Amino acid sequence: MPKIILEREKCIGCGACEAVCPEYWRMADDGKTNLIGAEKQGENEILEVRKAAGNKDAAEACPVQCILIK
Ligand code: SF4
Repeated sequence: MPKIILEREKCIGCGACEAVCPEYWRMADDGKTNLIGAEKQGENEILEVRKAAGNKDAAEACPVQCILIK
């Protein structure tokens, strides 16, 4: 199963991930994004999904490449 990883400290809060994949990404009060349902590991947020689906679009849309799919 693919793992979606957000390196949250690198996020610049542009909102692109939420715009292209709102079912997984939501902007938070601190101006950065959250990966909905993810587990926090230090500064990172990690979520295993059955299919990367719209998260691929989010990763491609991110201007600072802080969304990884493994
Ligand atoms: S696209 Fe990248 S920089 Fe923009 S809010 Fe999402 S994770 Fe942050």
